Amino acid sequence: MPNYIECPKCGSSDILPKQKIVSSEGGSDYRLIVRLRERAGTWRIKHHDHPIVAWICGACGYTELYTAKPKELSDAYWRLQQIQSERGPMLDDEPGAGSENNRAFLILTGVMFLLLLSGILALVLLLGMRQW
Ligand SMILES: [Zn+2]
Repeated sequence: MPNYIECPKCGSSDILPKQKIVSSEGGSDYRLIVRLRERAGTWRIKHHDHPIVAWICGACGYTELYTAKPKELSDAYWRLQQIQSERGPMLDDEPGAGSENNRAFLILTGVMFLLLLSGILALVLLLGMRQW
């Protein structure tokens, strides 16, 4: 990240460092981040989140964006690239990685639906036997 004492565009020393950047939608503020997603098991996705911060010139408004902790981000990115080259897609954004998650979700949904259906059937049978 820069350590400006003067704006690179207008030369002003009115610099606002490390300002948070948010997206404001529907009355809620969402901080902007860079996110790496790592599959850490069949059901678990590990996030590597790195906030984006801005250096702003208070005189002319010139703004530069930087990602916080870039070395950690870079280390995580290259480690994931290495894992991916050895074991196949580990990043959630990789083509094909989502389809496996979708398949697992569909299987789980199907099993839960069958359990619900058998529960309803058991309840109906139980109530039917009580009336006899
Ligand atoms: Zn400026």
